[in-house]
Amino acid sequence: MMADIEYMMDAPSELGVPHQVAEAIYLIRLPLPFALDHVNVWLLEDQGSWTVVDTGLGSQDCLTIWDNLLTSFLAQKPVKKIILTHYHPDHVGLSGDLAERTGADVFMSRTEWLMANMLYHDELGVLGTKMLELFRRHGLSADMYEQMQYFKTSYRNRCSKLPTGFNRISHLDELEITGTSWQCREGRGHSPEHISLYNPDNNILIAGDHILPKITPNIPMPVQDLTANPIADYIDSLAAFEDIDNCALVLPSHRLPFTGCNARIDQLKTHHHDRLNTLLQACAESVTAYDVLPVLFNRELDSNQTTFAMLEALSHLVYLEKGGKIKKQENDEIVSWQVLNGNI
Ligand SMILES: [Zn+2]
Repeated sequence: MMADIEYMMDAPSELGVPHQVAEAIYLIRLPLPFALDHVNVWLLEDQGSWTVVDTGLGSQDCLTIWDNLLTSFLAQKPVKKIILTHYHPDHVGLSGDLAERTGADVFMSRTEWLMANMLYHDELGVLGTKMLELFRRHGLSADMYEQMQYFKTSYRNRCSKLPTGFNRISHLDELEITGTSWQCREGRGHSPEHISLYNPDNNILIAGDHILPKITPNIPMPVQDLTANPIADYIDSLAAFEDIDNCALVLPSHRLPFTGCNARIDQLKTHHHDRLNTLLQACAESVTAYDVLPVLFNRELDSNQTTFAMLEALSHLVYLEKGGKIKKQENDEIVSWQVLNGNI
């Protein structure tokens, strides 16, 4: 029988206070002003320098914590590397400030770098406007549409500034940190070229958002590429992590460090297959993406959560459509989905 998931801590560490999770590795829990109220970033210690993995949101709260860290815990040695797992604002939001302040080199995959820059420099919210129109065609209520207007430029507002350049990292590249070698592992689906870091010597995986305990990573439909199949990307790219055994210590960007990587991968796959089945049943009659939110998420969703929920509902509907299970029906006003005969 597969080993269970076990947490290495009973309770979360204090916000902004370094908490050692392994030799030369420290967790910093940073605050987020959302329902998911924190993000984990990591400090890796070398003989003569520090490496930072992810930076937190571009908020004053997070900046104050970094100010404290740079003048106390990190003060004895320079920060020489900043590694960014992916483009989401809770990971890159302060990367420009930290790079500027420390002179550190920034490491990121090329696609994530381009995504961050595309969204950050969309000052007019062109893509956000397109997203809200897409949601409206997919059944979003008028009330929620109004509440979501702020989301048009939310990426830019949630990042302080971006670094002016980067060092490209790709799948299976190796980085020398903590006196040993860390492999880059690409994950797709949550974001297009997410990089996790695996150290086979210490059996530690810095998982980013690709593999999370308790909560499942959001798998959004990319608004700029409606031909994508992110659920298939996600499930396929989990395979690149199946060689990591259950004894590995997994350091996720949200919630607590744990062991049981393979058990969690199995749970994540089962979760999506169960959701796809539930969704297929819901498509017995013609439904919109907005109609199926209560089927997929059995809790109240605020406007921020509804944005991610709509993108996730669309990615699941597209997966079923591409698999020949359901058909998309469109008229001038609305897009709906219904099962193809014999598929339930
Ligand atoms: Zn993310």
